[in-house]
Amino acid sequence: MNTENILLDEKNMRYNFCPNCGGKLSIKETNSLSQLKCIDCGNIFYQNPAVGVAAILIKDKKVLLGRRNISYSNMWCIPCGYAEYYEDVREAAIREFKEETNLDIKLRDVFNIHSNFHNPAQHTVGIWFMIEEYYGNMKPGDDIDELGFFSTEDIKDKNIELAFPTDNLIILELREKGLID
Ligand SMILES: [Zn+2]
Repeated sequence: MNTENILLDEKNMRYNFCPNCGGKLSIKETNSLSQLKCIDCGNIFYQNPAVGVAAILIKDKKVLLGRRNISYSNMWCIPCGYAEYYEDVREAAIREFKEETNLDIKLRDVFNIHSNFHNPAQHTVGIWFMIEEYYGNMKPGDDIDELGFFSTEDIKDKNIELAFPTDNLIILELREKGLID
């Protein structure tokens, strides 16, 4: 655990004012935690990680990756997105996968869960699901402009740059488990 990533400081304070009274939020340190507290009303503003969801599609021991064209442009990722506030995580993974690949999927179990600290302005908890079945014609969409299946050798040989460090970790874990080459 890297606590430098976890503690709040001025660069990763996403909000400056109290949603309760409009007063200024300040950083309050308690034991191992740092929290945002309103100077005026004392309200603690809980800044929690968002939930990211990704779905892993494997074919012929290669994993499906998409090339991004909006944020992290020209970098690749396992198809993913954020769960909306009102949305079930599995529904979110299915929706995001459909938006980015045009495929309808049936999920299997969770492959793994990791905390993502790469963006100080938006920490997330990522959940990577395995895909049981998929239907339809694959076509890149939303913020993805190209899709392809890659082995770890392909990633190295083709200089595929991954957008997120935890996707790198997941790909290593898939390889260690013998699920991809
Ligand atoms: Zn306040």
